[in-house]
Amino acid sequence: MRKKIVAGNWKMNKTLQEGIELAKEVNNKVKEADIKNVTVVIGTPFIHLAEINKIVDPNFIAVSAQNCATEASGAYTGEVSAAMVASTGSKYVILGHSERRSYYGENDAILVKKVERALENQLEVIFCVGEVLAEREANKHFEVVKSQLVNGLFSLPAEQFAHIVIAYEPVWAIGTGKTATSTQAEEMHNFIRKTVAEKYGQAVADNTSILYGGSCNAKNADELFSQPNVDGGLIGGASLKADDFMAIINARQNH
Ligand code: PEP
Repeated sequence: MRKKIVAGNWKMNKTLQEGIELAKEVNNKVKEADIKNVTVVIGTPFIHLAEINKIVDPNFIAVSAQNCATEASGAYTGEVSAAMVASTGSKYVILGHSERRSYYGENDAILVKKVERALENQLEVIFCVGEVLAEREANKHFEVVKSQLVNGLFSLPAEQFAHIVIAYEPVWAIGTGKTATSTQAEEMHNFIRKTVAEKYGQAVADNTSILYGGSCNAKNADELFSQPNVDGGLIGGASLKADDFMAIINARQNH
């Protein structure tokens, strides 16, 4: 049975003190609501990871980094390795986010190395894929997403692929307030599952969680999560307020 997951991506928001406050609030609300059948993840900036791992109850919340280095260790000034992320108690890392792909030039070859480092350190990977608007308008969205999957992930053996969560995030929907319709999301999630099945077999595909990301909020989460292949969400803006994030978690719990 694949996991239902609601993962917050704080991006470059919140000072350490603000982050601690938000994590405490989310932790309390999730525990109070006794959320058991949704894996709740919070993706914080690197410097928050160690402190926030001390605050949250690991039975209810897992902590994620938003990136890791391509290399294992050494003279790479300013980088943070997957081993360092894991040493904070974090269980997940978000890789291949469109902001990293477009602002920091992260291509398939770079992402393959980051995924390898993450898996070597027992981190679960939330791997983001998604097309830009021009690609959708040119009807190339399936081709683009397939190429991101094949070139970023499909060199992994099946036992390692089991530690991958896929997040479909149409770039035109991220932070824009413009959400994919539930039909568009389901169509792509179904395509992603089919593509995974062609490579790894139906059983692996059926066990792979596929999250939707892109202006998912308290109002549209219910409709998106009602789709059979939408297993949860990767949430940016709406994860920065505990009540909004909690409403999305509740929407997932209730389906
Ligand atoms: C994201 O950054 O992963 C994201 C989905 O952002 P937002 O929810 O703000 O569109």
